[in-house]
Amino acid sequence: MFGSRGGPSYDRHWAKRRAVQLAQEPLCKMCLDDGALTPATVADHITPHRGDARLFYGPLQSLCKRHHDSHKRQSEVRGFGSHVGSDGFPSDPAHPWYTGRREKEVGKQSGGQRKPA
Ligand SMILES: [Zn+2]
Repeated sequence: MFGSRGGPSYDRHWAKRRAVQLAQEPLCKMCLDDGALTPATVADHITPHRGDARLFYGPLQSLCKRHHDSHKRQSEVRGFGSHVGSDGFPSDPAHPWYTGRREKEVGKQSGGQRKPA
């Protein structure tokens, strides 16, 4: 998705950032919120970058593959993730809770979503 801007220097840069992130936060953040200790294998962009360089250099979070895959699939379909942290608030800054969008404008796929109190 970086097209011609990708290549060896991008790969090296990302490999290093990913390694640093996983060294700093070796456990899956979402499993931790659920009280589980799972080694993280994925350095995930908290805000999906979709090829935007400014977002690409934004903050990362450590996730296990299971959470990364489910989180990303959901985010790509709906534009945000519905994971709720131990504080009771959605962990995705793009969640309507933060952006002010109403749920009915987003669609009705929000099945098991817990509403923040
Ligand atoms: Zn996890």
